[in-house]
Amino acid sequence: MYSEISKQLIEFIDKSPTCFHAVKTMSDILKEEGFTELKENQKWHIEKGGKYFVTRNGSSLIAFTIPEQDMKGMRIMASHSDSPTFKIKENPEMESDGHYIKLNVERYGGMICAPWFDRPLSVAGRVIVRNSSEKSPSCPLRTVLVNVDRDLLMIPNLAIHMNREVNDGYKYNAQKDMLPLYGDAAAKDTFMKTIADAAGVESGDILGHDLFLYNRQSASIWGASGEFLSSGRLDDLQCAFSSLKGFLAGEKKEYMAVHCVLDNEEVGSGTKQGAASTFLYDTLTRAHESLGLTREDYLIHLADSFMVSADNAHAVHPNHTDKADPVNRPYLNGGIVIKFNANQKYCTDGVSAAMFRDICRQADVPSQTFVNRSDMAGGSTLGNISNTQVALNTVDIGLPQLAMHSPYETVGVRDTEYLVRAAEVLFC
Ligand code: ZN
Repeated sequence: MYSEISKQLIEFIDKSPTCFHAVKTMSDILKEEGFTELKENQKWHIEKGGKYFVTRNGSSLIAFTIPEQDMKGMRIMASHSDSPTFKIKENPEMESDGHYIKLNVERYGGMICAPWFDRPLSVAGRVIVRNSSEKSPSCPLRTVLVNVDRDLLMIPNLAIHMNREVNDGYKYNAQKDMLPLYGDAAAKDTFMKTIADAAGVESGDILGHDLFLYNRQSASIWGASGEFLSSGRLDDLQCAFSSLKGFLAGEKKEYMAVHCVLDNEEVGSGTKQGAASTFLYDTLTRAHESLGLTREDYLIHLADSFMVSADNAHAVHPNHTDKADPVNRPYLNGGIVIKFNANQKYCTDGVSAAMFRDICRQADVPSQTFVNRSDMAGGSTLGNISNTQVALNTVDIGLPQLAMHSPYETVGVRDTEYLVRAAEVLFC
């Protein structure tokens, strides 16, 4: 079973080099499953028994179903579509020494820099192009997803002879060390043409772009008995994938089921489509209104609702076992990790932990616990941020992984299925 799920996960991630592609991948699956796409700028007609999804900015997606019977409340699983990477700046080409063309990029999120060196990279994202006026005069701009989908760039390391401190904790300068090489002198003024060709548009028609680097190395299943899986963007596409799969498989009879994947978690969620935005609130309240329910009905449902904030977790590192809490020590393939933090960076509390453990029990899947060492600050995620807009009982969980925020992260092959099965029970 888990080798089939791993194959599907790899396929999902391969199709999703950026947040825009992840949303497209999920939209395609939802349409195939008979979901109706709603537009935020059009009237919604929501019915009992209906299945819907809506996107914002092409980079966040919320899918939901309405039960035939009166709903008991809402069941939500939230994950994120973005991953740390490098964004291509405006006017990206830079000439170096008259012999090279490199690209000007900036950091998106907090990545581990070292593994971005000396490996084939490519570019994907979206371009915003002018519509020829005859075709649609009312809509002058359109968005086209683009993936160059070939080995295009490399960030070459400096030889050790010229950088003797490279193995002694070298501090990478994002403006100097991290710029990818694109071509020799003949490549001058061709980068945007390369993008336009890949997008199937005229380069002169591109009026805006959001383009990111991605690692070309394909996913690998490895280890003594194939127990590990490595790939880019496992944080958090592994959770987004598991959430979607469990959402589709669940019965969705009693609760309004909500599969929610939000952008910009890696940069603090404070955007129009991030967890701090009104996107989830707008979608839930609008669905209620369209069903003829009142604001009070929404608030009553909310009080009986539960959210699982699903974002990957740190497994104990084999070479740095001292970095983990002395007692709460998650391992790859050990099950879903429930995350705790006294200062509520994770919104798990006794109640939500108990609710989630009960779900794991019903799904017959193992769970583990993560707490930071008391002398180390940890990361943050989207649960507590989303709670400032839509406040409900929430648990923070994730699947255990190594090398978080590397362009090639490692997880266990069995854990994906555990989260799929828990999601299936959540969406009952
Ligand atoms: Zn994450």
